[in-house]
Amino acid sequence: MGRPYLGRMKLRWCMECNLPVLSRRCGICSGRTRAVSVSPPGDVRPAFERDVEIINRTVERCFGVPDLIPADKVVILNKASGRDRFDEVIVDGRVLGVLEYEVEEGRYSFLPRLEGARRIREHATARRVVEIDASAVPYILKGASVLLPGVTFFDRDIREGEQVVVAAPEGVVAVGRSRMSGAEAGEREKGMFVKVRRSAPPQPPRVLPGGQDWQDAVEANREVLEKYEDEALAFIRRVSDETDLPKAVAFSGGKDSLATLLLVRKVLGDVPVMFVDTGIEFPETLDFVRSLAGRWGMELLVEEGGDFFRGVEYFGPPGRDYRWCCKVCKLGPTAKIIDRHFPGGVLNFIGQRAYESETRARSRRVWRNPWLPKQRGASPIQHWTALHVCPGGGGGGKRPL
Ligand SMILES: [Zn+2]
Repeated sequence: MGRPYLGRMKLRWCMECNLPVLSRRCGICSGRTRAVSVSPPGDVRPAFERDVEIINRTVERCFGVPDLIPADKVVILNKASGRDRFDEVIVDGRVLGVLEYEVEEGRYSFLPRLEGARRIREHATARRVVEIDASAVPYILKGASVLLPGVTFFDRDIREGEQVVVAAPEGVVAVGRSRMSGAEAGEREKGMFVKVRRSAPPQPPRVLPGGQDWQDAVEANREVLEKYEDEALAFIRRVSDETDLPKAVAFSGGKDSLATLLLVRKVLGDVPVMFVDTGIEFPETLDFVRSLAGRWGMELLVEEGGDFFRGVEYFGPPGRDYRWCCKVCKLGPTAKIIDRHFPGGVLNFIGQRAYESETRARSRRVWRNPWLPKQRGASPIQHWTALHVCPGGGGGGKRPL
């Protein structure tokens, strides 16, 4: 599957403070940060406590290792291309593996990278390990598969098609997928046991000291976050000054539109807020939008979306390339709000980001949508990653906001 490049890869790491940093220098120790090699587009985000719990449970079920990720570390997720949820898991400045949701199985699986495999292998309880003879290592490092004659020991419970760790006497050399079960391998003398996905010479895991939380991550990023915020505020001021149109904010209850709303309120104060109730919102989202509107005394312009489930009967389920639901449930109702409240047009601030999709990466920062001729859209956070939006992240029970 294609890997769209939607913007510069921004994730770096301070190996001294063991924290993610979105700039070249760490805001705490002033040391140089190191680029983290993640898959594009690189819309990195904080892992919440619940994410870490899912990762640890999945690793335990698959590899017999509990608590691969300790609670006192800052964990980052990076969404990569996959059929469903497919997140690279970044700890200590390195990708430990990928958390994937297997749609057919209805459960998660963990695809370790070499660093993750080294950590798994350290545990006495580690499962799904295949040990090979030292003489086989040079071939594995060239990308060859693990063949049965070179195997010295393996887990009999391995099933065909599972992710496994390949270790030589000196340590982990590869990760890959089993091509036969452990039981079958026990009976056969020849054949391909493991198709290797990645390999590297053995080395110990590079575990950094823990003890960090998201407050530390905010400190390490304070300067770069303030720079992004100042730039966004200046943008809001500039596009507002350029037009006599009334101003509004599109609010979905999500993190991106909330960041946009906070920024716009800093520059323009109270502005009307458009909210489209698509009819398939979580009750918590509706509660949050209403309580925030009450707390801030916002003028909330609400419109209900078209009937999503009637649309499903008529058009079929929406797909990546067939998003009728946007038109029926979002754009149509937005047009109604605009017609009713802003018949002469509106400058609408929208929390759209380039890292979200190729279409959005191609979009200009101020644009018109042919479906909403009366709206001039503007995105103050066009070049932010999800980590810029909510650096107050997950760990230690803290939530963004
Ligand atoms: Zn540092």
